[in-house]
Amino acid sequence: MDATDPLPWSASEWSEATMGESLRLAAENLCTFGGFGASGIAVVREDHVVPIAIAGAERFLDGHGDPIPVTDILGQAMPVALFEDTLLPLAEDWGLLRYIPHDRSQMPEFGWRLEAAYAGTEWHPDDLLFVPVRDETGRLRGVLSMDAPTDGLLPPPDRRALLERYAAQASRVLLTALEREELAERQRLAIAARRLLSIGAAGASVEEILGRVSDELITAFQVAGLRATVFEGDERRVLVEKRQGLGELAPDIASVSYRSSKWLWDQQLVGLAARDQVLNFDGSPDELERLHDLLRRLGLESIVLVPLGAGDACLGTISFYRSQGAPRWTEAELETAQEIGRDLGRLLSTRRALLAEQEAVRELRALDAYKSRLIATVAHELKNPLAAVRGNLDLAAHLAAEAAEADGARPALEAVGRGVDRIARIVDDLLLLAAANDPNAVTRRRIDLTPYVVSGVEAVVEAVGRPACGVLTDLPDEPVVVDADPRGIEQIVVNLVGNAVKYTPPDGRPVSVSLRRHDDHAVLVVADQGIGISPEDQSHIFTEFFRSADPAARRQPGTGLGLAIVDRILAHHDGRIEVDSAPGSGSTFRVVLPAG
Ligand code: ADP
Repeated sequence: MDATDPLPWSASEWSEATMGESLRLAAENLCTFGGFGASGIAVVREDHVVPIAIAGAERFLDGHGDPIPVTDILGQAMPVALFEDTLLPLAEDWGLLRYIPHDRSQMPEFGWRLEAAYAGTEWHPDDLLFVPVRDETGRLRGVLSMDAPTDGLLPPPDRRALLERYAAQASRVLLTALEREELAERQRLAIAARRLLSIGAAGASVEEILGRVSDELITAFQVAGLRATVFEGDERRVLVEKRQGLGELAPDIASVSYRSSKWLWDQQLVGLAARDQVLNFDGSPDELERLHDLLRRLGLESIVLVPLGAGDACLGTISFYRSQGAPRWTEAELETAQEIGRDLGRLLSTRRALLAEQEAVRELRALDAYKSRLIATVAHELKNPLAAVRGNLDLAAHLAAEAAEADGARPALEAVGRGVDRIARIVDDLLLLAAANDPNAVTRRRIDLTPYVVSGVEAVVEAVGRPACGVLTDLPDEPVVVDADPRGIEQIVVNLVGNAVKYTPPDGRPVSVSLRRHDDHAVLVVADQGIGISPEDQSHIFTEFFRSADPAARRQPGTGLGLAIVDRILAHHDGRIEVDSAPGSGSTFRVVLPAG
């Protein structure tokens, strides 16, 4: 054959795609320049040596002399252990090359021979000449083999050196091709994993994430389908099933998968059930047999079981299945699948925590709503009898005065009257508090705050009959527009200005009320130079019914509900309140609301 003619070449589709032209050339060089009729390349996949390309020969016989198609040879894998422990020790060491004479080669157990008879004077069709290809760690990565020397002779020692050079070149090409393939694979898998995380980071649920990335996972892992199941207590729920379905799993198979997933998460492993091997599945021989039946029935090559978990808990499982004829799982793929299991597990656990929290918030809200309704009902129920008591009290005072018994009865009646007035104030504040707690009672619209600040201040001035200290307002010319409930705003002003006036002695400096817009916020400041609030009290003043123990504050009438009402109203307006105060030098309350 002319050395420039390309040799016939058979390769598995997969190796054609990944190994490329350079490997073909390296194999051809071994044949043409090494003087062989045929050469083969095998690579190690997982724990098998898998032939992926054959150059120079097209027809083969099996060990019994029957013809076998090249596709069968390309599919024939030999366990690495068998190669290393049984075949290799039989070989003569020729440097890089290994030679096993036909009487030791144990054909027909090991392989096949070329159909053409080579009437070599020395070379026997069952002789084996090959090169184990190892990486720098010494791990077997592939095997190059040569057959049918064109001169029918065993290569003599002087030609072996040349042959070694070609073999070394072919080995390097093979290792580089494998490296490139691994790199491409890791890149493909890394892209799938990164996409998963980027969607997860957007706060989507695990169902949504899986729904969106399943197609990519299916492509990345070259699987026929996937199924994700979550464990909720003793319940198992299928979250997502994509492409080829597994159908309803028999209870024993489902429980093998459940048990195995828990165990796999503990051990930080993934499970593999393939037609020719089962790894890390926790089942009885009978159950595993039924698992095999399932693979056969569904035309599957393998199922990989990946636990989803976080911390100590296994929260579910995801199974990937490959159809018959699909490649075996590589270590990189299994590792990435495991990583994805961890990522999804973390997302699942965060999601569950979030749901539990939302549930707790819902319950608290329901409780809060119940409390508000109860307060409103009690206050309403008290209002009428109180009015009756007040009316009758006035009548009794009037009658007592007429009966000239006023001297004895009046103080008692007046004390009862003060008590009734106080109860009436509490009832009124309770009703305001209940309204402030009820989001449905708030009707927000775009308003200019200024008129409501003015009317609030006027209401206070009127109620206390012109406060001795006086109230100064500093209001802007421009409207300060906010999205708010006008009644709520007026209530805030009334309560804050009312307090400022109430807690400022009659000879004290005037209370000041100012309104301004700062950037995208409206700021209302109510400041007084009254009795002030101790730092200790400042942390409690917004709590319902809190009143300071300071005698100066106690001397003033109050319910301890005013600031709680302000706080509740602001909560419904996305606003906040801050206080700056010191005993003896006054208090400044700052209300901040988002401005429109
Ligand atoms: P009250 O009806 O008692 O005024 P509030 O909820 O309005 O109830 O206020 C709670 C407590 O905060 C008051 O009892 C008082 O001790 C203190 N306080 C509120 N505003 C002022 C102020 N401007 N100056 C001094 N103390 C104040």
